Amino acid sequence: MTKTASPAASLNKPLLGVSACLLGRPVRYDGGHKLDRLLRDGYGPFVDWVPVCPEVECGLPVPREAMRLVGLSGPPRLVTVRSGIDHTDRMRNWSAKRIARLERMNLDGFVFKSRSPSSAMRDAKRYSAAGVPSAKGPGLFAAAFMEHFPMIPVEDEGRLNDDGIRENFIERVFVFRRWKALRSGDFSVRGLMDFHADHKLLIMSHHPARVSALGSLAASARPSGLEPAAGRYQKLLSDTLRLAATKKKHTNVLHHAMGYFKKRLTPDDKAELAEWITRYHDGFAPLAAPITLLRHHIRTFGEPYLERQVYLYPEPAEWMMKNRV
Ligand code: SF4
Repeated sequence: MTKTASPAASLNKPLLGVSACLLGRPVRYDGGHKLDRLLRDGYGPFVDWVPVCPEVECGLPVPREAMRLVGLSGPPRLVTVRSGIDHTDRMRNWSAKRIARLERMNLDGFVFKSRSPSSAMRDAKRYSAAGVPSAKGPGLFAAAFMEHFPMIPVEDEGRLNDDGIRENFIERVFVFRRWKALRSGDFSVRGLMDFHADHKLLIMSHHPARVSALGSLAASARPSGLEPAAGRYQKLLSDTLRLAATKKKHTNVLHHAMGYFKKRLTPDDKAELAEWITRYHDGFAPLAAPITLLRHHIRTFGEPYLERQVYLYPEPAEWMMKNRV
């Protein structure tokens, strides 16, 4: 049997929001940019971007006075550093309108600029009234975005330099896209169960026990209660995928997959596959190496359970983004 395509290979490019300065646009307070080559050159060929600069789009000029978040209890204010002008209401009002427009665009993810009082997803400094940096939190636009779209995968460009975090973000983007594709069609109990069946190994790579927990949620769904069941499934899936997929968990998944045709492999083939799994585990080979070998054996012997696994057959763009950058 020949495997030719992943379970969702026909989808278009992911549509990702991005802080505009990260793509090299000169929109920062000092007229500069913060070009991130990983985003522009590594991800660029595989995604469509929606650049967003909250400070310029809400009507502030370039260059402009630098701002910071002020206030440690309750929502912070967005205030200029030198002259103390408060732009909080301007930013909040603009954010609500921009978020409504972004909702219509149906984004698959967002990459935020770290440390920005407008765009950071977690690490903008918050100052006390006396001007002392005493805490960290999201920037005003990023906070509004994440509150409105709790299921959209988000990351910041600084964290994407970590291999594990980068792969996790890419994976969440593609899973989210497939989920939306499922929901936009003729959504049914069967569709939910098929979605779960396609993602079992991927879920296992994050939290083995969640395979059956999510499977139970899917199996217990009834046509009359499909919406709430789907909501519960998506929430647990999203929480699960945020958990790190460690080398140990990946190795467990690879051995699990190997077990499906262990008896059909020659001793040499079995030893070779086991060796590549060990090399991956020990840090001497990328995950793509044992997965490619597994795919070869699946092509030779055929195995319906493995053939449908997104973990082994990600979309080509997902495969490239994980393994090229
Ligand atoms: S961090 Fe955000 S607000 Fe600041 S320049 Fe970049 S996109 Fe604009």
